[in-house]
Amino acid sequence: MAGNRTFTMIKPDAFEAGNSGAILKMIEEAGFKIVAMKATRLTPELAGKFYEVHKERPFYADLCKYMSSGPIIAAILEKNNAVEDFRTLIGATNPANAAEGTIRKIFAKSIEANAVHGSDSDENAAIEGNFYFSQLERVI
Ligand code: GDP
Repeated sequence: MAGNRTFTMIKPDAFEAGNSGAILKMIEEAGFKIVAMKATRLTPELAGKFYEVHKERPFYADLCKYMSSGPIIAAILEKNNAVEDFRTLIGATNPANAAEGTIRKIFAKSIEANAVHGSDSDENAAIEGNFYFSQLERVI
């Protein structure tokens, strides 16, 4: 059975552009409940740790630099079938390939500065949520 939680970040490009509110509105209107949320900023080292699975990929260094270039919003979200439904809401990694009406189609600037993160599995949703939030920082 699919899990009911996912993890997201509003990435530095979208935060800097003042699109956090509009993105959170789309997320809530799609039926996701916010379980935990904070504005924060990653150091290059923390960005490297978060994206460790990508460390062999050619864009890893650029990604760590970009993700630590400005504030982000991190959040745990709840909904039935959360991981899959959230990936549908945000659209493809490359905004050029993202479906009309998806968050990345509307707000992303490039394949790297693509506005939002969404976990790709229930297992990673739990790991990523735990990376940012202790139990005390969660609504439930
Ligand atoms: P996601 O699951 O859709 O976020 O995509 P991935 O897990 O494949 O990649 C993680 C993040 O790395 C993406 O969201 C982008 O910010 C960045 N990224 C992915 N592919 C590329 C690429 O080809 N070039 C660059 N510069 N960044 C990329």
